Amino acid sequence: MERFEKAERLKQLPPYLFKEIDRKKAEVKARGVDIIDLGVGDPDLPTPEHIIGEMKRAVDDPSNHQYPSYSGMSDFKEVVARWYGDRFNVDLDPGSEVVSLIGSKEGIAHLPMAFINPGDVSLVPSPAYPVYNIATLFAGGESYFMPLLGENDFLPDLTVIPEDVADRAKLMFINYPNNPTSAVADLDFFRRVVSFSEKHGILVCHDAAYTEMAFDGYRPPSFLEVDGAKEVGMEFHSLSKTYNMTGWRIGFAVGNSEGVAGLGAIKSNIDSGVFQAVQRAGIEAISGDQACVAEMNRIYSGRRDLMVQGLREAGFDVDPPRATFYLWIRVPGGYTSASLATRLLEETGLVVTPGNGFGEPGEGYFRIALTQNRKRLGEAIERLKGLKF
Ligand SMILES: *Cc1c(COP(=O)(O)O)cnc(C)c1O
Repeated sequence: MERFEKAERLKQLPPYLFKEIDRKKAEVKARGVDIIDLGVGDPDLPTPEHIIGEMKRAVDDPSNHQYPSYSGMSDFKEVVARWYGDRFNVDLDPGSEVVSLIGSKEGIAHLPMAFINPGDVSLVPSPAYPVYNIATLFAGGESYFMPLLGENDFLPDLTVIPEDVADRAKLMFINYPNNPTSAVADLDFFRRVVSFSEKHGILVCHDAAYTEMAFDGYRPPSFLEVDGAKEVGMEFHSLSKTYNMTGWRIGFAVGNSEGVAGLGAIKSNIDSGVFQAVQRAGIEAISGDQACVAEMNRIYSGRRDLMVQGLREAGFDVDPPRATFYLWIRVPGGYTSASLATRLLEETGLVVTPGNGFGEPGEGYFRIALTQNRKRLGEAIERLKGLKF
């Protein structure tokens, strides 16, 4: 018996599907097996030095030690607006259309509190980053899941969303380049999203955490590039993956001014903004030398090529992604996502993420994150080749 009864919002949390994998991982590790963890989407390489240097300078400056402005330093917001102009040709007003975030997860998690009442619906992709659904539940809303299927290039089919669901929907979450499927979206898809949300009065939240992690010359677009997008939508960005800054906690949301203001109103009552020294480092990341981004993409695309070839030689069916550091791989016949992940862990010490952990339509796939060096990936391939399916 627990002494303190949990609130309904915790009791209604969906079962944690990685629990079984976590338990087995600990068990296999205890047996002394050398684990190669391809499960987590956390860059293995350090934050670039010029960003660390700026952080060190900013920490020494007492003007950065006090409470920051809730919505972000004006210098930071101006740099973000300028970057949007240069990178996507999108005009943003730094005063009303940009808010800094303590990582994009924080903003995504708080947004439903600003726009969802009990009984309201969020349209949520599945498989997906879990925060869209959980944040909707925490706000008392319901998620309507839009399956991302291989036959639709992992884009949601908006034409099959029932009319009454669309009319109850207040928010729609989308995410391209996509985690976990590594799919990309073009402007045509974003145009369909804009007309759908115009028709049903929905605020679109595009999670754009991976727009800068792309290969072979491909440049992922912003949702806000589409005509009318700023009237219906916002975009969430993260410095975490682009600049190897997952631990620093900085991101930003931009776009629709009512969306930005609503999120800002929730945040100003919960947190007090991002440490200014971290925002200074963020300014250096966004406006400084971008050679580090090109270098990271070169490293990831090399790892992608190595791994795709190795997986194919080991008998797996996988397409090389144009963006993100994930591979989304079909499980071989006779296996489920979970049974394959278990076999890989027990017989090879490889940790992969079973696709159904991101939502039921992810069943039949597993995800690998390219966040190990080439030597470790090569070792992973050798172990996979030793298995018979
Ligand atoms: C990593 C990730 C985030 C979170 O990034 P932070 O800025 O570190 O909070 C958001 N969305 C997706 C899809 C991610 O993979």
